[in-house]
Amino acid sequence: MIEGIEISPSDRAGCNNCGKRIGKGTPRGIQISTYGGSHITKHYYCYKCFPLKITEEVKSIKDEFSNNLEKLQRLPKELDKLIIQQKKEIILSNL
Ligand SMILES: [Zn+2]
Repeated sequence: MIEGIEISPSDRAGCNNCGKRIGKGTPRGIQISTYGGSHITKHYYCYKCFPLKITEEVKSIKDEFSNNLEKLQRLPKELDKLIIQQKKEIILSNL
C-alpha cells in the first residue's frame, strides 16, 4: 500500500512496478514493508505507476466494502431462515 509521496532526493531507486529509474526531483510513492516486525524496507513507485497503484488500492477497498455490505444485508434473511427451520423442528418434535 502506498503510504506516502515524496520528491525523490536521488536517481538511485528503481520503480517497483515498471523497473525504471526514478529521476531525481520527481515525485515517487513510498510503500513500506516490514519483515519479522522490525526490519523495514521501502519500495518506491515512479510518478507514472503510483497513481495507478493508489487507484487499484482504492478499488479493492471499495470492492471489499461492498462485498461486506452485501453479506451484512443477507445475514438477517439467513438468520430468519434458521429461526424458521428451528421453530419447524420444535413444532414437529412436539406433534
Ligand atoms: Zn513505474
